[in-house]
Amino acid sequence: MNKPLISFNRPGIVGRELEYIEQALRTDHRHGGGSFTGRCQAWLEGWLVGGGRAFLTQSCTAALEMAALLTGLKDGDEVIMPSYTFVSTANAFVLRGAVPVFVDIDPATQTICPAAVEQAITPKTRAIVAVHYAGFGCDMDALCAIASRNRLILIEDAAQAIMARKAGRPLGSFGALAAFSFHDSKNISSGEGGALIVNDPKLAERAEILWEKGTNRSQFLRSEVDKYNWMDVGSSFLPSEVTAAFLLAQLEKAEEITAARREIWALYQRELTPFNTIARVPAPASDCHLNGHIYYLVLPDRNRRDAFIAGMRAEGISTPFHYVPLHSSPAGKRFGRAAANLPFTDFAGDGLIRLPLFPALSERDTTTVVNSTIKMLENM
Ligand SMILES: *Cc1c(COP(=O)(O)O)cnc(C)c1O
Repeated sequence: MNKPLISFNRPGIVGRELEYIEQALRTDHRHGGGSFTGRCQAWLEGWLVGGGRAFLTQSCTAALEMAALLTGLKDGDEVIMPSYTFVSTANAFVLRGAVPVFVDIDPATQTICPAAVEQAITPKTRAIVAVHYAGFGCDMDALCAIASRNRLILIEDAAQAIMARKAGRPLGSFGALAAFSFHDSKNISSGEGGALIVNDPKLAERAEILWEKGTNRSQFLRSEVDKYNWMDVGSSFLPSEVTAAFLLAQLEKAEEITAARREIWALYQRELTPFNTIARVPAPASDCHLNGHIYYLVLPDRNRRDAFIAGMRAEGISTPFHYVPLHSSPAGKRFGRAAANLPFTDFAGDGLIRLPLFPALSERDTTTVVNSTIKMLENM
């Protein structure tokens, strides 16, 4: 192929990653919970401002598994979530014997529809998971009200939402619990990585114990107890200091990374909005402060989506589709159920594609993507 290949994502080195990783390697504390872990957690707590506690984990998947443990689920309890999400959103709760109940999304943003959540509540419902797709904040006012009215635990799957805000407030600071991802595919990356945010102070002490493999080692390290003991269930959730060192360097550049992504996102939105009748552009609420995580278009059907992806591929541009809705996947059918028909979820599953978006995407490549996209849409 003689056309330039424009990849969908390219994780970069943005600051002091190599220096910090070397520092971590040269200390005799390379396991989890050292100074780099502490600095990452302090950074997250500082960003979120709400007084929540941050626990660094090996992935967002691990953070969601901690959240599911903290929710205290019994076999058959129900957890309401969108079907249009990554498998870990559901898997974490299935591992605890709970049933994911899938509801539809708002077609303007692909985020969970509060009215659908309300209709899906049964006597077995224990929790709601709000997934901030593309870093677009879910309708947290409505979801917080539904959760408190029905005494449900609200959990934010904020995997894609670092640095994004809703009504001025950072995403990840609304729910009792929130989970971030620092996977390579996300805005801030340590290869693999994540964090659980515990905003409900009643859950913080137990979170610390689960995080420390079921022991009160953290209390021991603070000299609050004279030996540490096995207190509860738990698992290996901490990343090593090498990972935390990598992450800290990225967090220090979070503003710059986000600004670069937002600029490309805004350019796509400006140039492609005139073609909204052919491919739906995102329509986040005006109180969403975006983080430029994903720029997507929703084509009218699967045939045209496949033709778009193939046509762009022929131009050397990678424009992948996204989730296969969980309610229509083999494990989703086995472990969960759809609360109703999910037409907007099916629509996104069939039609959504994502454009290349990463800070190092050059102006020239961004223009190439826009021009090729417009050419494809005009011929649909
Ligand atoms: C990426 C992602 C996850 C999983 O994150 P990992 O860090 O890879 O475990 C979970 N939920 C959503 C919505 C995601 O986008």
